[in-house]
Amino acid sequence: MECVMNSTIAAVNQGFGSRANKAFSVERSLFHPAPPVFNGREIRIPCKELRGIARVLVPKLQRRGITSRRTRRRSTRASIAAALEYDVVIVGAGVVGTATAHHILTTTTLSVALIDAKLPCSGATGAGQGYIWMAHRKPGTAGWALAKHGKSLWETFAQELQENGENVLTSLGLRHTGSLLVASTDDQTRSLRNWIQDLLQAGIPSTYWTPEEVVHKEPSLASGCVAGAAYFHEDFQIDAALTMDALLKKVREYEAGGRYKELFYSPVQQLLRSPAEGRIVGVEIPAGKVFSRSAVVIATGAWSSGLMNNVSSQWGIPLVPLVKPRKGHLLVIEGPHNIQLTSGIMEVDYLANYYKTRSQGREGAKPTEQSGVSVSMTATLDPNGNLLLGSSREFAGFNVDVEDEVIERMVERAARFLPGVKNMKGKARIGLRPYSSDGRPLIGPVEDVPGLILATGHEGSGLCLALATAELVANMIQEVENPAEFLSFLPCGRLVSALA
Ligand SMILES: Cc1cc2nc3c(=O)[nH]c(=O)nc-3n(C[C@H](O)[C@H](O)[C@H](O)COP(=O)(O)OP(=O)(O)OC[C@H]3O[C@@H](n4cnc5c(N)ncnc54)[C@H](O)[C@@H]3O)c2cc1C
Repeated sequence: MECVMNSTIAAVNQGFGSRANKAFSVERSLFHPAPPVFNGREIRIPCKELRGIARVLVPKLQRRGITSRRTRRRSTRASIAAALEYDVVIVGAGVVGTATAHHILTTTTLSVALIDAKLPCSGATGAGQGYIWMAHRKPGTAGWALAKHGKSLWETFAQELQENGENVLTSLGLRHTGSLLVASTDDQTRSLRNWIQDLLQAGIPSTYWTPEEVVHKEPSLASGCVAGAAYFHEDFQIDAALTMDALLKKVREYEAGGRYKELFYSPVQQLLRSPAEGRIVGVEIPAGKVFSRSAVVIATGAWSSGLMNNVSSQWGIPLVPLVKPRKGHLLVIEGPHNIQLTSGIMEVDYLANYYKTRSQGREGAKPTEQSGVSVSMTATLDPNGNLLLGSSREFAGFNVDVEDEVIERMVERAARFLPGVKNMKGKARIGLRPYSSDGRPLIGPVEDVPGLILATGHEGSGLCLALATAELVANMIQEVENPAEFLSFLPCGRLVSALA
């Protein structure tokens, strides 16, 4: 399986309930020790593909009398650079970049190079819980239409796989569970009833469940903490790693015909621009240059600002999106366990945490590391029956350490709703969500640099929004007009000259 979860650090000997979370097993979805460095430093292991090209080119160079190893390496690089040219170069193979590669390859005749500093799923994508839900989204907000469209594209994608004889439970981890928004106070129940009305009016089938109905349908939920719930029939979930595998499997079908190339372990260090036209013409990776004929798409999630900051200061153009890492813990309790869930569960407080910090961003009160850690309960079962418990949110720079206190808070929170989790064993996954300071992803061309397109800042919704983002980007590359409702995602007026 190409889509890897990185290191398992320690064995699990103790339950969540104890203070001994030091014995936690960790799946780090993110493996950058620090923000990427763009100083032209060489990596020792060039990617497999470029080594392959070198094997072909070196004998040719030797025939020309170039025998010095150093000279040979330099000359090989020059040839590699000339060899790698694609219509579209996508930087970042998280779900957004990979979905974009998939959409371009399957719907156009353009060729694509997909580049990542590590491997697919090294970023936030590897930590994703996988819910493709409308339950927590506000009708009328910028993200509403994008999420609705994104969700329908996942359904189409699943349908296509099914038509090709695939089982979408095993190939995507897709489960039509619906989602349950659980209120634990009477006040929350009143708000929930209004919430249901709003979503019903916006075309989302939803039903109010009394506490008795909730406990009857979801017996693992503690009756004492449920004051009412809203059930959203059409919400579903996917498994992030399986889905990435499915996308990669599809794009690799285009490799043999020369339309697709993946370059992993290849951090992009510089963007290349034509001095005459100011147009973007490619990117530089440690092993050489990769040229683009049509566009370079920046889909580097939480690392987007760092990359663009470097470019911005060199070119003297405001190119930096205000995207910062928002750390999240997700707990994974491997089966067998005794928690039964028929739907995906989210507590109503999740909405407060989600929208509170977003509106802070909109009003310009930049969230900082001092904003603290917010924890709210979400619970889903993955296709193997593992219980996934989400999640925390905090601004901690690029730190990806597992925090015992955060895990304890998450377990405590989850145990209020699902008392069975108290003494269970599990793993933690850490991911850095790409948080956009105005609450909207940035999707679209950068005005001053023709051919440069951003696709970043999806925070906690990147899985849900990936296919819709991919479609918008592909349209932009082909100069097909996107619907007006998606204009607010354009980067225009939202880029700065340098990171503060
Ligand atoms: C705990 C948790 C739970 C979540 N649950 C959900 C959920 O249920 N539903 C949902 O929709 N979303 C969820 N999300 C959010 C979702 O995971 C993210 O929004 C999404 O993964 C972002 O995808 P991305 O492709 O933009 O970024 P990433 O997945 O972070 O990918 C960016 C990639 O860029 C690469 N990169 C960085 N710099 C460079 C460089 N210079 N050169 C080359 N490559 C580079 C990185 O290695 C990385 O692979 C969750 C997130 C977390 C943390």
